[in-house]
Amino acid sequence: MSYLFESFKGWKSYCEEKNVSLPESVIEYEVDQKNGEDDKIKAGLLQAYEVMKDAVKTGLEEEMTSRSGMINNGAKKVYNHPLSVLSPEFQKLISRALAAKEVNSCMGRVVAAPTAGASGILPGTLVTLQEIHGLSDGQIVEGLLVGAGIALIIEEKASLAGAVGGCQAETGSAAAMASGAIVYCLGGNTDQIFNAVAVTIQCMLGLICDPVAGLVEVPCVVRNASAAAIAFSSAQIALANVSAVIPVDECVEAMGEVGASMESRYKETAMGGLAATLTGQAISERVLIKDIEILPDDELKE
Ligand code: SF4
Repeated sequence: MSYLFESFKGWKSYCEEKNVSLPESVIEYEVDQKNGEDDKIKAGLLQAYEVMKDAVKTGLEEEMTSRSGMINNGAKKVYNHPLSVLSPEFQKLISRALAAKEVNSCMGRVVAAPTAGASGILPGTLVTLQEIHGLSDGQIVEGLLVGAGIALIIEEKASLAGAVGGCQAETGSAAAMASGAIVYCLGGNTDQIFNAVAVTIQCMLGLICDPVAGLVEVPCVVRNASAAAIAFSSAQIALANVSAVIPVDECVEAMGEVGASMESRYKETAMGGLAATLTGQAISERVLIKDIEILPDDELKE
């Protein structure tokens, strides 16, 4: 019987008792719960990572303008800007997270990890981590398995959906998956990995879901970039053994409590926050008119 992902404390105890690594326990779970096969699970993740890398490349090389016009080749502009705020690596990290997410906003192929709205965070962070530290695809796949375990627990105790828990549940969870994966890939121990998750959740807590015109574009795309940056800062903090003070399970509980008490206008309804601003509403009206204009005549008559 494999471990059921209900708490970080339980996950750690299970791995210690059974003497298995965090990624091994996730594989066991998949095999046990979903009749998976070890090799196929790893091959599937490798394929998912290829799609992530492709999304980064596509977003940086191809035309990325969304139908609403709100997304307009932002990743390429950031990637090619001559002035780096922090370092060239940081600039690449931000550009790659933007790139993969822009592909999603422009209806391209991405990996919804954990959701399409947050689909730029793992590609941006992992591709950059791999480049900086010369990691193999196999090591990244192990990091993805750790990220999957993190997501399973967040899903169980809080939520991964913006419509249920706000943007903290989507971009926050993706950033938590990424920071845990980063610490794992750099050789951190279980406490450091879980501490990275706790720090990330603390940084993302309370973020509302307020997509302008109901499209997963603004603020979603830029939030993927900031979440990627938070994943790296959390990993750096955790690797230095700076404690999040509040244990990771309690951080996830807080995330669930905040999500449950969030008003529905902040949960993907496009009725609050940025979606409710004057400009947000004007864009929403324009998008709606555009949609009506492109409907075939017979559909308009119905
Ligand atoms: S604002 Fe809402 S739709 Fe956009 S990424 Fe966040 S949770 Fe997803």
